[in-house]
Amino acid sequence: MTRVGIVGGGQLGMMLVEAGARIGIECVTLDPTPDSPASRVAPAIVGAYDDRTALAELAAAADVVTYEFENVPVASARFLAERVDVFPPPESLEFAQDRLLEKTLFTEVGLAVAPYAPVSSKEDLDEAMDVVGFPSILKTRRLGYDGKGQVRLTSPDGSGDAWRAVGEVPSILEARVPFDRELSILGARGRDGLTAFYPLVENVHRDGILRTSTAPAGGVPTGLQAAAERHALTLMKRLAYVGVLAIELFETGDELLANEMAPRVHNSGHWTIEGAVTSQFENHLRAISGLELGPTGLSAYSAMVNFIGWEPPDRLLPSGPGVHVHRYGKHARPGRKLGHVTVVSDDRDTLFSVLQDVTRTADKD
Ligand code: AMP
Repeated sequence: MTRVGIVGGGQLGMMLVEAGARIGIECVTLDPTPDSPASRVAPAIVGAYDDRTALAELAAAADVVTYEFENVPVASARFLAERVDVFPPPESLEFAQDRLLEKTLFTEVGLAVAPYAPVSSKEDLDEAMDVVGFPSILKTRRLGYDGKGQVRLTSPDGSGDAWRAVGEVPSILEARVPFDRELSILGARGRDGLTAFYPLVENVHRDGILRTSTAPAGGVPTGLQAAAERHALTLMKRLAYVGVLAIELFETGDELLANEMAPRVHNSGHWTIEGAVTSQFENHLRAISGLELGPTGLSAYSAMVNFIGWEPPDRLLPSGPGVHVHRYGKHARPGRKLGHVTVVSDDRDTLFSVLQDVTRTADKD
């Protein structure tokens, strides 16, 4: 039996543990907080992500180590990799942690991105505004997620305020894309290099945070799925990738622009637990453990709604068949993901009608 070590004990770690239990893979997690979501379902080492004693303990307890968030210190990932197999490769963390490196990588492998310019000073920002134009978004290169570390700009006025608002740290100025919608492609690549891709998912964000995902994305033009898979495959090969990779995309006309990638299981793939033949969590574990990947086809039309900052009680949610409530056991805080609901149905109209009920309830904060 393979023992998998997971750096991070959040909800993604928790769902990896649960998937592992169903296929005979035992997991152990490392997280600085003693009451992490994953600690409710698996043995947990409590320690900082750069605590070498804790990292060595994780390596000793596992045959292979993975991560459930992309801001794992790269030095820690490399420290682990000297002791145990680590997938995805630590290099993928380096790209995912820095928006500038990430965009450079996307461009290198032929993935189009929104116009952007690097910004290291207030003067750079003024110059970047001339090149990138408006509307645009100033984003910190590092440690931005769920819309954090971002300032929207509509004119050159207030560039000083914007620069101060991001903390005067290395950033990029990026053109705001008038996208038709947001999509994501999730794929898995095994140790043998074989790959499997899920259908494109449509995502709706609010305040920079994922609100709902619908799978499959409706009305995907011919060739778009294949194009997204081709891009993901090129990226995976470039990174010698093993595991699940998610790429967030903007659809504009018949073009796809890459926004960012996540070298891990992803929120826009939670629907796969009930809505796909093999979940993203199982396929991630299968990939890193050297097992054959499971089929990624849909078992039903699916939609997922996040609980953000507020968690409705069960009695307020629809209780019909096909409604699956997941709670992470976290304390409520504004903007925090506390759980999600996945709705599955063989009938698209039924799916959207139940989805509407769930969204209305989840939005009641
Ligand atoms: P990010 O943290 O870069 O994923 O941004 C969070 C969300 O903000 C995205 O999912 C989009 O909804 C929005 N956003 C980010 N960058 C852009 C952009 N260049 N153009 C339009 N919307 C964007």
